[in-house]
Amino acid sequence: MQRILIVEDEPEIREMIRFILEPKGFLVNEADNAQDARKLLSKHSYDLILMDWMLPGRSGLDLTRELKQKAPQNSPPVIMLTAKADESDKVKGLDSGADDYITKPFSPREMLARIKAVIRRSSSDNLALPLDYAGLSIDPARHRVSINDAPLHLSPAEYRLLLFFMTHPDRAYSRSQILDNVWGDSVYVDERTVDVHIRRLRKLLIPSGHHQFIQTIRGTGYRFTPSSLHHESTTS
Ligand code: CA
Repeated sequence: MQRILIVEDEPEIREMIRFILEPKGFLVNEADNAQDARKLLSKHSYDLILMDWMLPGRSGLDLTRELKQKAPQNSPPVIMLTAKADESDKVKGLDSGADDYITKPFSPREMLARIKAVIRRSSSDNLALPLDYAGLSIDPARHRVSINDAPLHLSPAEYRLLLFFMTHPDRAYSRSQILDNVWGDSVYVDERTVDVHIRRLRKLLIPSGHHQFIQTIRGTGYRFTPSSLHHESTTS
């Protein structure tokens, strides 16, 4: 049975979510603030957290950031719940480490679809085997990246982007395909977000030369080409 933690200060919303999830066989726990959420997280292991952005005291955004930074490999996936519809807030939410985003009000069907997608994605991450391309290594089960055995610290978005590239080498992807695969097609993030994160990821890979793996395909998108380190690169 899959266990879900709801962190939300409005009792009506908690009750509504419980009402949606329990008949579908999920085990649901509730917390109305960050402190209680932490206590429950230390007691049980969860398959997913539904995290309200605005909580009294420590915000859901801060708590998400804390969980993902402290122990990214142990942290369950997080879906942020928020009334904010502004795009920059969504990017901020995803940057904090949230795996997806639901804007209130939402339909039960939408919520269930996103929960299932996020749980599916995170469990397939955990089954994936480590990969290495010329010293650039990723271990999806432990959520770790290293370059020539030195750990590389990535934001959650950059991590997912790199994981996507490393598991799909030598194929060109459009920005919208990358968005669908890395952020999920239910998330309303602009295609420019892809460029922003690719720029950041490349910057981190420059010292070791691995940035050359991520090639811009003019008019199309991007391609991860691990063989490029050994050849003259003709793309920018
Ligand atoms: Ca709230």
